[in-house]
Amino acid sequence: MSEILENKVQELAAVASKLSPQEGLALLAKQFEGKIIFSTSFSWEDQAIAHMILSQSLPVKIFTLDTGRMFNETYYVWSRTNEQYNTKIEAYYPNQEAIQTFVSLKGPNSFYESVDNRKSCCFIRKVEPLRRALAGHSLWITGLRAEHSPDRGDLPEIEWDETNKIIKYHPLLHWTTDEVRAFINQHGIPYNTLHDKGFVSIGCAPCTRAIQPGDDFRAGRWWWEDRTNKECGLHAHS
Ligand code: SF4
Repeated sequence: MSEILENKVQELAAVASKLSPQEGLALLAKQFEGKIIFSTSFSWEDQAIAHMILSQSLPVKIFTLDTGRMFNETYYVWSRTNEQYNTKIEAYYPNQEAIQTFVSLKGPNSFYESVDNRKSCCFIRKVEPLRRALAGHSLWITGLRAEHSPDRGDLPEIEWDETNKIIKYHPLLHWTTDEVRAFINQHGIPYNTLHDKGFVSIGCAPCTRAIQPGDDFRAGRWWWEDRTNKECGLHAHS
């Protein structure tokens, strides 16, 4: 990262830290108009952010990565969101040839067989489509929260993502689960009902399960793997 860019990121982080998420989103949407993008997985933090963007009619492109292995509940909340906000959330899909070759060679559930297979599956279904979606943008809004991982406590709300060469903004970084839930209820925002059944972060159906109170948030993802492998490549530090 150049010194100029580093100063710009620090400057933005200092400003954002003094603003509410709604104010931060409004300010950045104006500053980065045409270059700002939000990725949603329809988790409740993402639904809260989508509400902040759509209810203020902010000029932010919203997209999701449809891996082809999502829960029915996720497709339902996606449809409900389109209806409630009179919008069409864009979808990015895996490269057709890559996924066809991978599944034909390895089988439909090869991610349970090895970490390499799981990472290949995540690369084809999420990482590569994400790169396509982010291309040409300067600022990426995410629903990351510090509570989701012990590594995220010191993260700034605005940071440089060296892997994707983009500035990232995590407006709800310091919100607790209770705060997110209260915001969802207060504004009548559609949310994924799997959250009521112990699911904290919701990804692909075969790789996500509910957790028990007190469990690590990541215990619901790729539970058959060693903890150190648990990342899908979307966020370098997650
Ligand atoms: Fe494949 Fe599971 Fe990764 Fe989804 S979370 S892309 S199904 S390995």
